[in-house]
Amino acid sequence: MIRAAAIACVGCAMGSGLGCAVDHGAATSRIAVGGDSPLAALFVRVAEDAGIPSDELAAASWASTRFRFATDPEDAVRAEAESLRSGDLALLGGDGFRRDVDAALARGISGRDADGRKVIVTRRQAAGSTNGLGQIEQGLDYTGATWVAASTSNYQVASRGVGDIDHIVIHDTEGSFSGSVSWFQDPTAQVSAHYIVRSSDGHLDQMVAEKNVAWHDKCFNTNTIGIEHEGYEASPQLWYTETMYEKSAALTSYLADKYGIAKEHGPILGHGEAPDCSDHTDPGAGWNWDHYIELVKAGGAGQYLAGDITVDAPATIVAGELATVTVTAVNHGTSAWDLDATRVGTQGPQDRASQLYVAGDWIAPNRAAAVDAPTAPGATGTFTFQIVGPAVTEPTAIDEVFELVEEGGAWFGPTFDLAIQVVPAEAGSDATMTDHSGCNATGDGAGALVLLALAGLRRRRR
Ligand SMILES: [Zn+2]
Repeated sequence: MIRAAAIACVGCAMGSGLGCAVDHGAATSRIAVGGDSPLAALFVRVAEDAGIPSDELAAASWASTRFRFATDPEDAVRAEAESLRSGDLALLGGDGFRRDVDAALARGISGRDADGRKVIVTRRQAAGSTNGLGQIEQGLDYTGATWVAASTSNYQVASRGVGDIDHIVIHDTEGSFSGSVSWFQDPTAQVSAHYIVRSSDGHLDQMVAEKNVAWHDKCFNTNTIGIEHEGYEASPQLWYTETMYEKSAALTSYLADKYGIAKEHGPILGHGEAPDCSDHTDPGAGWNWDHYIELVKAGGAGQYLAGDITVDAPATIVAGELATVTVTAVNHGTSAWDLDATRVGTQGPQDRASQLYVAGDWIAPNRAAAVDAPTAPGATGTFTFQIVGPAVTEPTAIDEVFELVEEGGAWFGPTFDLAIQVVPAEAGSDATMTDHSGCNATGDGAGALVLLALAGLRRRRR
């Protein structure tokens, strides 16, 4: 363990920085939307104007834009707020969009804006749910999918089986998951796919039985299974998530085994490569075929493993004081780590609420941070988050255990701990000006920041 080089002692007293876009919520003291992106403050401000919850507005924006705006963010966010306020979600994707937003709220969001700055939406604990991630119901053919039937006007009833199905066609939706599901349920659409995969968590809906002919590829439907993926060909890095690749690959692996299709790029192909009577090019050049086929061959079972973990944290912290912790770990698994799903979680026991939790910086009391950037196998991932010294009456040693977790998937080790000496606030004020907190490591400026942060925290307690 290494002592922190500097402490980001910024609080609301500074008028900027983490935790300043605070929204204490109507019913609880929970900070619903935080982070250092200006978007966080925008969501809070616009939501307040519209009289809607800020986390809901942020989740809606995440579901539709991934926090990247082609036009003025303020205009776009205000338009979304108006849709949410009026309950008229038709433009955003209707009831299905509502489900996407609810799923994002249940899961929590750790997203970044176009400049790489964080927007944190604290996870809402769903009533009666153990993990807030929802449940998978069994699909008609594939047990990993939920059955959501397409309109019977949108496919051809058949009795296909082994020998009849020899290709798997990969698509992207060029629209939201929910919007696409709704479209396949609309009898006027005249299009469908057997399966559709959601970007954020790899959730799968099966909409047409495999024995039937779905209408996904005008001239190439008879002998194929079609799989749609939520996203846009033009921005694959925002939509083609590792989780989606893996859940899709597990499905494709299952289909290939079932119908005797070679696990190769060829019999498994993109819409843009398939014989077709249209000019479709999806899923586009941004679809990582090498990685996808590798996952299909591995059964889609993404292998997660970390190693060479370093923890950069202060050895001592004053009660109420904020400090920055940086954890690095090498990805020793075969699957990349993803912004939306690879996180630091609490262990010992698993998913406990941490006493080091900082509202507005953490995704939830049991989730400190997501990986700072997508991390390929072999590369080093960084996880950065704040901690707060818990209230103590005498110097107290605390030791909290953490582990990396792939949301909706696996916990993967090894575990690591934060062993920190906490000193009471009164004695600590002196300590910060003299020696051992580590907070004055960068000089008087840092010390002044500590006092400002403490002042802010004291004020908030009243
Ligand atoms: Zn297509």
